[in-house]
Amino acid sequence: MTFSSVDSLCQNLQGLSLDQKRQVFYWLAAAIATEEAAELVLPPRPNTSVVEQRHYEGKTYQNEKRRCGKAGCRCMEGDIAAVGHGPYWYAYWKDQGKLRHQYIGKRPPWLRSQARATLQTLSE
Ligand SMILES: [Zn+2]
Repeated sequence: MTFSSVDSLCQNLQGLSLDQKRQVFYWLAAAIATEEAAELVLPPRPNTSVVEQRHYEGKTYQNEKRRCGKAGCRCMEGDIAAVGHGPYWYAYWKDQGKLRHQYIGKRPPWLRSQARATLQTLSE
């Protein structure tokens, strides 16, 4: 898209109602977050084996097996994919240029919202 066509797009958007502008705004924010997550390149982490990676609602999720670092633990010797703890899900995202991460656990958020929806259907 050229600059002039972005210009005319913006001029067209001027004509929208406040509510429609909000809808466009939320749609754009979600689209940007999803694309940014897809672009996120995670540096390889030591003592971590990635089982699965997925982009969801603007974050990158990885299902990882890890070594805990404790001497004598069963995870410390051999192939991480075989002996590592987990797998557990971790979320990764960029916040003002800084890479952040968060421990999620056994169940990724897309399964949680699915479970909630199923419960809701059952209770209706
Ligand atoms: Zn361990």
